[in-house]
Amino acid sequence: MALSPEELDKKLAVWKSIATEIPVKLETQLENRAMGAVYFKEWSAQEKTKRALRIWGILWAICILTIFIPIAHFVLVPAFFVAGPIAALVVFNREDAILGGAAQCPDCKKIFDISKNKVEWPLKDVCSHCYHHIVINKS
Ligand SMILES: [Zn+2]
Repeated sequence: MALSPEELDKKLAVWKSIATEIPVKLETQLENRAMGAVYFKEWSAQEKTKRALRIWGILWAICILTIFIPIAHFVLVPAFFVAGPIAALVVFNREDAILGGAAQCPDCKKIFDISKNKVEWPLKDVCSHCYHHIVINKS
């Protein structure tokens, strides 16, 4: 989904304050090239614990709210109760991530947002304007 330029600017400001900028080069199947940047974040043990407890808390809060939904609560309450610790474990085990980024599409030349990704180079994304596949490498 394409972000508005204002939304992208807001996200970029947040990423710049908490993550490391990595310059990248983008290439499409048409062999056009462009430059951009992605933001790499590595979480400390303390941050990982905080993130895990937050997701656990959110899911258990939803669990409590679903008690008040007739009939559906037979499924939703146990589902969110079990999902809490599982999601917390998944979040806790994530060491790092590419939070996202911004770059000019090599083909259509419009600015698009690079989506959140695992740290597996090369990254792959799709331009939100022309839908061309883009391979993203560290430059
Ligand atoms: Zn494009």
